[in-house]
Amino acid sequence: MRKKIIAGNWKMNKTVDESAKLATDLVAAVKGQPYAESVDIVVCPTYVALDRVAGIVKGSPVKLGAQDVHFENQGAFTGKVSTDMLKAVGVTYVILGHSEQRTLFGETDENVRKKTAKVLAEGLIPIICVGETLAERDGGITEKVVGIQLRAAYQGLSKDDAAKTVIAYEPVWAIGTGRNATDEQAQAVHKFIRRLLGEIYDAPLAQGIRIQYGGSMKPENAAGLMAQGDVDGGLIGGASLKVDAFLGIIKAA
Ligand code: PEP
Repeated sequence: MRKKIIAGNWKMNKTVDESAKLATDLVAAVKGQPYAESVDIVVCPTYVALDRVAGIVKGSPVKLGAQDVHFENQGAFTGKVSTDMLKAVGVTYVILGHSEQRTLFGETDENVRKKTAKVLAEGLIPIICVGETLAERDGGITEKVVGIQLRAAYQGLSKDDAAKTVIAYEPVWAIGTGRNATDEQAQAVHKFIRRLLGEIYDAPLAQGIRIQYGGSMKPENAAGLMAQGDVDGGLIGGASLKVDAFLGIIKAA
């Protein structure tokens, strides 16, 4: 049985103090709650808030994630942070290949592959984001697009490493738009992803990998999406910025 994973991607929102407040409220809300043990809960603040939030979530069921990382160890890479830096502040998960990175900042499949390998080599867990645009869905090439992104990310990855990964299927047209994929649309792509993982590796490995849905997930639609056989949680943007909404999704999981 795959343990569900709910991750909040705070994106470029909240100052350090605001992030600390949100983390404090979340930790207080889930502390001692039985459901918090049966779901993996992750928050991904901005880089500058990681250290403060790390101190707040320490010892609680809430784990820390980063929104990206560079694949080099150190050096002349202005604006980037390394896996060592993330590990030093207590990060466990790293979001890779988010569609905003891909479309706004030129993230490539090749970079996602390098980052995935680096993150795993350093003992961190990648949340690998894949997903199609509206034009690609309308053009009937969703599986082709997602397949290319997925094959690239897993290229050269051992079975042992692949087993540690988390995937987030995030249709680009559903991110931040208020328009989520239907339960059936999400399940169809999740099923395709699991089948492809089975082809790249094998069926038992594919069965073990968690695939989150992301794209306007909220308390009202979370239960339906996560009731689908291949939907193992959510990567949540907007609704993760408010404790009540995020909590509603955690409870739905
Ligand atoms: C995201 O950014 O990963 C996301 C799913 O955002 P939202 O929930 O706001 O659509």
